[in-house]
Amino acid sequence: MTGARGTGVRTAVRRAELPMLRAYRLWFEHTRKCAECKGVRTAQDCCAGGRDLWAAYRHAYAEGA
Ligand SMILES: [Zn+2]
Repeated sequence: MTGARGTGVRTAVRRAELPMLRAYRLWFEHTRKCAECKGVRTAQDCCAGGRDLWAAYRHAYAEGA
């Protein structure tokens, strides 16, 4: 167990998280503002714009995973 290696991994995870969280926030804010997306149960029921934002989130999520 080396402290240096643990620190490096943690830094990489934190950096990868940021675009993912930003993409999720953009989608979440859209669902609150968009009349069509307000009552949806899943992102698949969103309007085209909402699905685009969700796709961007999924992409960022996959990049970070
Ligand atoms: Zn929408």
